[in-house]
Amino acid sequence: MTAHPTRVTRLAPTPSGALHVGNARTFLATWALARHEAWRVVLRLEDLDLGRVREGAHEACVADLRWLGLDWDGDPLVQSTELAPYRAALERLALQGLIFRCDRSRAEIRSAASAPHADDGETRYPPELRPHEPWPRSVEKWDANHRLRVDRAVEAVVDELLGQHAFDPGLEAGDLVVWTKLGVPAYQLAVVVDDARQGVTDVVRGDDLLSSAARQQLIARHLGLTHARWWHLPLVYGDDRKRLAKRNGAHGLAALRDEGVAAERIVGWCAWSLGLLPEPRPLGARDLVARSSPEALRDAALRTAREPTVFDANDLAWLRSVR
Ligand code: GLU
Repeated sequence: MTAHPTRVTRLAPTPSGALHVGNARTFLATWALARHEAWRVVLRLEDLDLGRVREGAHEACVADLRWLGLDWDGDPLVQSTELAPYRAALERLALQGLIFRCDRSRAEIRSAASAPHADDGETRYPPELRPHEPWPRSVEKWDANHRLRVDRAVEAVVDELLGQHAFDPGLEAGDLVVWTKLGVPAYQLAVVVDDARQGVTDVVRGDDLLSSAARQQLIARHLGLTHARWWHLPLVYGDDRKRLAKRNGAHGLAALRDEGVAAERIVGWCAWSLGLLPEPRPLGARDLVARSSPEALRDAALRTAREPTVFDANDLAWLRSVR
């Protein structure tokens, strides 16, 4: 019997199109850290956003991860195969009087007098738009948007790579959509339910989700769950200084693979751009493991906070060069 229960992390891709070099870096670093620390790695395909999931996308996503040299423990969890755990969570929130149905459009919410627009385009749902209480204690209609009451309060997020940060989800987002009219949970609820049922102790992912960590802590608390430790990794940006996006088809892993780019080049570029290699050179995923200690990733996060990684034409040319 071991004295320490096994720690568990997850790879949680959304199979909505070709994974790109930025996704690859996050998944490689997550996996390499986990293997360095002897954690379990579980795979979860986040396919509830039905509008975005294409035919064959699950297989393509798994093929991209395997091509990079990643592996995982046990069978993947495919979110859309079973909705019962998410329904139970929504019922539990409703029972506490925390959930209301919301049929308002984004435009209506935006035009509400005191709803400030966040810089990132997020629409805050202000308390004055809430329906009169008490709210139904059980869910009456599953194909309707539901929001969770989020009051203003500071939520501290302690991150293993980025240190301590404070958020106020009630101010930044207001009442959160936790269920959608497509009859499926929204991302924030699904991720809390799944991290708990997959026994995830350590969430490693891109730092665009740091503010979501605060929201997920709040939801977890309402559900009587403890949240995982957080490790938010710096993203890769395009030369337009916007974060690299899947729409930049040229950086898609499948497209690069089809051109004949070796996976070792992707791994080597990712390692170098995080400061885990002194210069870019082909590297196998297994060889990344020894370089991916928590300390090394902490240094990488510090360095890239000062100087964000930009993937530009030179980087693409290096991936394509054959030596
Ligand atoms: N599925 C999300 C993505 O591909 C990641 C969500 C998470 O790690 O919490 O961006």
